[in-house]
Amino acid sequence: MNRFNDKVVVVTGGCRGIGLSIVEKFANEGAKVYALDFKLPNEGEQFLTDNSLSDRVKTAQVDVSNLDSVTAAMEYVIKDAGRIDVLINNAGITRDNLLMRMSEAEFDSVINTNLKGSFLCIKAVTRQMMGQRSGRIINIGSIVGTIGNAGQTNYSSSKAGMIGLTKSAAKELASRNILVNLIAPGFVITAMTHQLTEEQKNFFLNNIPLKRGATPDDIANVAIFLAGEESSYITGQVIHVDGGLYM
Ligand code: NDP
Repeated sequence: MNRFNDKVVVVTGGCRGIGLSIVEKFANEGAKVYALDFKLPNEGEQFLTDNSLSDRVKTAQVDVSNLDSVTAAMEYVIKDAGRIDVLINNAGITRDNLLMRMSEAEFDSVINTNLKGSFLCIKAVTRQMMGQRSGRIINIGSIVGTIGNAGQTNYSSSKAGMIGLTKSAAKELASRNILVNLIAPGFVITAMTHQLTEEQKNFFLNNIPLKRGATPDDIANVAIFLAGEESSYITGQVIHVDGGLYM
């Protein structure tokens, strides 16, 4: 199916992990996709798992925590494509540590990338989407933004903040037909979760009712739904995609 023919989709952190899966799903559905990322693939390096999609995917460097960098990246997309239909705030980092040991730098870097980065990207596309009288913004939060997690006060605060950001932006932008929602994944098998200890991984796996971690595609499928016509009456929502871990 080509449900997103001629649609312009921007995915931050789009060159690997969940972001890459989202990029490929949208490109597969006919969209023109911009994968913005901190580190771009080297010249000639294949980062798409399906290279037949390469005509529909462009990359550009961005540091989502930096206003000038975000402004430049979004201006490039708007100049190149003429519009932005969907923004997916997926870029995110962890800097785990116990509260008493966590440095100010560890706290700030996570808040600046995950929470402030999402704010800056929303701000940078809002004028364009308001002019179009349509747009979809999908924030990638986390289950720990709802339930918390020892060792992740910085990360869970950033993801909880993204819930407030989602709901406030949804209320503010609804009159212009811009819908804002948040996907809260649980345990997804990516480079980010490879950093967890075996004990942490087993804790998640033993407690997930569906008894498996998510694949990046499990998350990307919900992003496709939230960007499509079928979800045109859904805004300001937190959609948990976690195999039943939080309920
Ligand atoms: P990865 O670490 O695999 O990918 C994250 C991407 O974000 C990387 O491409 C990274 O770039 C990019 N990024 C980091 N900092 C910046 C920045 N300042 N500017 C631009 N891009 C940046 O993570 P996942 O794919 O696992 O996670 C994607 C999202 O899903 C994150 O928001 C994460 O918090 C969330 N999530 C993940 C879960 C999981 O279990 N994996 C569970 C719940 C939520 P680079 O590599 O170049 O630094």
